Parts: sequence; structure tokens; C-alpha cells
Amino acid sequence: MEFDELYQEVILDHTRRPRNFGELPGASTHVHGDNPMCGDEITVHLKLGDSGLVEDVSFTGSGCSICMASASLMTLKVKNKPAADSVRLTNKFTSLLTDPAAPLDPANLSELGDLQALLGVRKFPLRVKCATLPWHALKQGLEHPGAPSDLTVDPTPQA
Ligand code: ZN
Repeated sequence: MEFDELYQEVILDHTRRPRNFGELPGASTHVHGDNPMCGDEITVHLKLGDSGLVEDVSFTGSGCSICMASASLMTLKVKNKPAADSVRLTNKFTSLLTDPAAPLDPANLSELGDLQALLGVRKFPLRVKCATLPWHALKQGLEHPGAPSDLTVDPTPQA
């Protein structure tokens, strides 16, 4: 199907050339995320402005293609956006991924943009954790800025 191929291309592109990958000079918040089911281990680095803006964001580490593509797409979505908007997007995206019955209405889809490429993993609970790991790390960093932190996603198969 053409749509599937298009989405595969987006994921491949971000896996091969992850955006905003690397250390972030001046970052004040670092959240390490671990998905033991797959072996994904990434750290999200955040530079937050006084006005609640995500001034810059990057990630380091290694993971499967779904995890790397999700982290790469995430950085593009939240950079230079208010932290509150990014938390809201995180909640929306993770709930669309973890609830296969969540409606994929046009309003949801247009806000997601290229992130739609990852919605195909909704059918695979183990891969959902790969896709949501960077977002869980982001949310923790936005809600608890400045504190170095670690998180490990629940290593049980069901979402
Ligand atoms: Zn993975």
C-alpha cells in the first residue's frame, strides 16, 4: 500500500539520519530512558527557557529503528514550542499508540504530521514501548526540569 510505503520511508529516513542526535551544550535537563524488552537506551537532553519554552532538545543513545525514528521526529515536533504544548502532544501521541481503539480522526492526524508514520505500531504492544520511550523521557524532563533522572518502562508485554 502506498501509505505504508510512505510511512516506511519516513521511519527509514529518521533511522538513517536521526535529527538532533548528539550531546546538547548548555542542556539543563537529562532524562535517561531504558526499554529492557528491546534494548533501547536513550537519553533526552533539554534546554528550557525561562518562559516555559523548549529552546533546544537532542537525544543520545541507541535503539531499534522505531525508537530512533520516534526520538528524531519528537525533537522536530517540540523544539521551540512551549513545554505545555509538548506535554499535551506527548499525552495525545502516547494514548493514540497505547489504545488501539482511540479514534484516528483528521484533527488528531493533522496535529501529528510525520508522527503518523509510527501509528502502525499500535498493533504491536512490544513495539509501542519502543515508540513511546523517548516521549516518556521528554515528559519526565518537562515536568521535573533540572533533576537528572532515569526511567525504565514496564518490561511486561501488555501496554
Ligand atoms: Zn525498540
